[in-house]
Amino acid sequence: MSKVALVTGGMGGIGTAICRQLSQQGFTVATTYSRPGREQAWLDEQAQAGFTFHAYECDVTSYEACVAMAEKIRSELGEVDVLVNNAGITKDGTFKKMDKTNWDAVIGTNLDSVFNVTKQFVDSMADRGWGRVINISSINGQKGQFGQTNYSAAKAGMHGFTMALAQEVAKKGVTVNTISPGYIATDMVMAVPEDVRNKIITGIPVNRLGKPEEIAGLISYLASDISGFMTGTNLAINGGQHMC
Ligand code: NDP
Repeated sequence: MSKVALVTGGMGGIGTAICRQLSQQGFTVATTYSRPGREQAWLDEQAQAGFTFHAYECDVTSYEACVAMAEKIRSELGEVDVLVNNAGITKDGTFKKMDKTNWDAVIGTNLDSVFNVTKQFVDSMADRGWGRVINISSINGQKGQFGQTNYSAAKAGMHGFTMALAQEVAKKGVTVNTISPGYIATDMVMAVPEDVRNKIITGIPVNRLGKPEEIAGLISYLASDISGFMTGTNLAINGGQHMC
């Protein structure tokens, strides 16, 4: 039987590439979405491209919703072996203008979600002696970003979580790692005004935005058996924009 991978927010730009990569690698792939209505069109589009995925509605900011989603996946697909915490949002604004609503939304979706979802699956991974937790953070969690106190805090927090949990489950065959992408050409980045985007690109040594498939390629390695000695790390994949 094939291993099961769950990618939160898998219908987004990076998430879709990750789902496809894991499917090509032989995983049964499940994903979550929080805004119902688009899932059938996405599933149909993927099917036309030769991919079969399993979609579950779940607002990852809600612990109860994550409990229900995990029960459903377990009963329909079996235990989850690889978890990619990928769901994320931005709500930018300088700290002076940052209100509590936008703070809570970004911390809830990017950071609380990592607790809510990982909690459902990591014990079972440890009991079975193999598992992979991969957290999608951001370059802006590594270096901070003007106008993103909420997002930078959430993404930096993800890596603190990674380092702590990695130590707790290392002996059980479960690895926990963070990937910190730089600017990737998805809707999230294409929504940035063109002049700002072009300015960002001038600061990237490879002189272009990253591709979702380039993030998925790294996921492919981390989800495999061969990555078992790598845990608690934060892998920067940013075209050389921030070297650490
Ligand atoms: P997208 O906006 O394309 O996708 C984000 C996904 O998150 C969507 O599928 C969305 O699903 C899901 N999501 C948002 N809120 C929730 C929620 N409450 N519950 C469940 N799912 C939710 O973004 P990207 O593909 O660009 O980003 C993916 C990840 O990569 C994010 O964590 C982002 O922070 C990170 N990242 C992206 C970079 C980039 O340049 N694009 C750079 C660095 C990091 P739905 O619409 O159904 O809610």
